[in-house]
Amino acid sequence: MSARVLVVDDIEANRRLLEAKLTAEYYDVLFAQRGEEAVQIARRERPDIVLMDVMMPGGIDGYEACRRIKAQPETRHIPVVMVTTLDDRDSRLRGLQAGAEDFLTKPIDDVQLLARVKSLVALKVVIDELRAREASGKRLGVIGEELRADPLDQHRLTAGNVLLVDDNQTQIKSIKTALGVEHRVTLLGGDDKPGAPPDLVVVSVTAKSFDGFRVIARMHSGEPTRHLPILAVVEPDDRKRAVRALELGAHDIIVRPVDDDEIVARARTLMRRKRYMEALRSRLDQSLELAVTDQLTGLYNRRFLFAQLAPLVQRAQCGGAPVSVMVVDLDHFKRINDSYGHDVGDDVLKEFATRLASNVRPSDFACRMGGEEFVVIMPNTTGDVGCLAAERLRRQIAAAPFCVGAGELEVTVSVGVACSEDGADNAETVLKRADEGLYEAKRAGRNRVIGKSASQAA
Ligand code: GH3
Ligand code: MG
Ligand code: MG
Repeated sequence: MSARVLVVDDIEANRRLLEAKLTAEYYDVLFAQRGEEAVQIARRERPDIVLMDVMMPGGIDGYEACRRIKAQPETRHIPVVMVTTLDDRDSRLRGLQAGAEDFLTKPIDDVQLLARVKSLVALKVVIDELRAREASGKRLGVIGEELRADPLDQHRLTAGNVLLVDDNQTQIKSIKTALGVEHRVTLLGGDDKPGAPPDLVVVSVTAKSFDGFRVIARMHSGEPTRHLPILAVVEPDDRKRAVRALELGAHDIIVRPVDDDEIVARARTLMRRKRYMEALRSRLDQSLELAVTDQLTGLYNRRFLFAQLAPLVQRAQCGGAPVSVMVVDLDHFKRINDSYGHDVGDDVLKEFATRLASNVRPSDFACRMGGEEFVVIMPNTTGDVGCLAAERLRRQIAAAPFCVGAGELEVTVSVGVACSEDGADNAETVLKRADEGLYEAKRAGRNRVIGKSASQAA
């Protein structure tokens, strides 16, 4: 789908001009003629980018419209570019301070316009993807209330680390002074002690002693630096190099001589966006983790168990390594609940889970099936070795009483073990055999391990 651009301008001719340029590049164009209308359309239509005229008669101006778009949770992630005839410093700064990602001056340079729109839209595609996954996480109920707050609110600006890549001493000094008020600035290859991982990289593409474009390209494609915002410093009037920097992966550009307030404002916007994306990413990781974790014990849950076991058994069927499972059930657990209450029962389950987790190998998966029944998936493990592991666990549980609220409790477990075998085995049949082993262990008096092969299965 082509990206949608909202063009806000009170003058028909200006709107038509931008429309012509943008539709020629296959963008869909929406229009607004006034600030209030722009805010409403942004909210209703969710465009991918807004090109906002500053001066509009009556009502609110472009700055205020931008501020309102950036104040609403539904629209604040939409990039806004201020379009202005006033190329003075104050109007530029006012736009950036209102939260705009950038500004362009009229008459608009086609190449710059399209480079900026392209790079901002590309970034928004990533943000949209993260937002969409988060929304589906909420729908499925795997993102809990505590994770619901808007990350942009939680990530209001705090100091960050800036890595500066430059060789011009005067410029280094002025950038360090400007950004040093809020942030910790480290010069690459300089005398400063290397700081924490950077939140922003400022790269001069006018440097003599290194190729700034190469630095940008490397950072943009390297795994640890891929998500870092890059601000490129370019010569004024060097349109070609500015566009090249954006194409190679710079997120923003600033022209020399670097204006203190402008670089501060741009650094803020870039870091705020980075934190926003980081927050979205980590909440997704958390929600994925929650989706496969058992709440009481912190072990994997049933959903995860089947998702892991099925492909492992399938691979074993196709000549891959064997996989074994043990099904572990606490003996007479109901008595603990009946004698000491459900809470003590829960504590026993937690203590058991801790011992279980510390007794399996790092490559094993310990899961809680439900109630007081647990399953350990042991990849790359034959039935004999699986039985040895189960026996070690059984002994470890019986060896020392569980210390829970009520005092010390003797706890034992019974275990059934089975291994994938040639033929028509699948996750269900392997688990069923292990279950049969467990059942036999219970009948034979509990506190024991029984391994089951297909030939012995009922
Ligand atoms: P067996 O040796 O034959 O396994 O006997 P058992 O008492 O352990 O087995 P049974 O299946 O009869 O009882 C299991 C009990 O586990 C019944 C149920 O109330 C309790 N239970 C299930 N889930 C939980 C839980 O999350 N917390 C607590 N405290 N108890 C639970
Ligand atoms: Mg039991
Ligand atoms: Mg049971």
